[in-house]
Amino acid sequence: MEVSKKNKLNKIVKEIETCQACNLCKNRIKSVVSRGNENAKIILIGEAPGKLENEIGKPFVGKSGQQLNDLLSKVGFNPEQDIYFCNVVKCRPVRNNKDRKPNKQEIEACVKYLNAQIEIVKPEIIILCGNTAKKIFKINKPLKMVHGSCIDYKGIKLIPVYHPRASIIDEVKFNDLKKVKKLRG
Ligand code: SF4
Repeated sequence: MEVSKKNKLNKIVKEIETCQACNLCKNRIKSVVSRGNENAKIILIGEAPGKLENEIGKPFVGKSGQQLNDLLSKVGFNPEQDIYFCNVVKCRPVRNNKDRKPNKQEIEACVKYLNAQIEIVKPEIIILCGNTAKKIFKINKPLKMVHGSCIDYKGIKLIPVYHPRASIIDEVKFNDLKKVKKLRG
């Protein structure tokens, strides 16, 4: 009998809950693995959990998550149905009690989990939300040059977009997500 996506993903969740592969495990209240639908054709990858995500155990649940949900709904997505949300790293990077970007070692230690999630979910489209997510796929041009473009990666369409926190007008973020909606239909 074929093991379901859910079972495969649950196995990863269990591994992450006890992972000590980098120092970020010391900040972990809850591991932050995913939300949304594992059968969706779109994965959206952010950077790392923030304070609220660490407490709740789900990605994109804070203020920027709400902004993102609003934009996705506005372009016609049902976020929980149409998208599988996750981050590059699964535990919260923090300095002086404030969120920070994950460093190279932390990303290298954690990226195996993201790769496993992509392998299991098998998306047609990956939305790369912010710089950290885009760099994982070796897209090194600045976001201002590549946001909203479609880049092929092993048959998957990669679409870099601005993070909801980025100081860019909402119209730009909206238009990029609209392109994703057009591709998906
Ligand atoms: S961030 Fe990733 S690699 Fe580091 S402890 Fe958490 S799950 Fe493990």
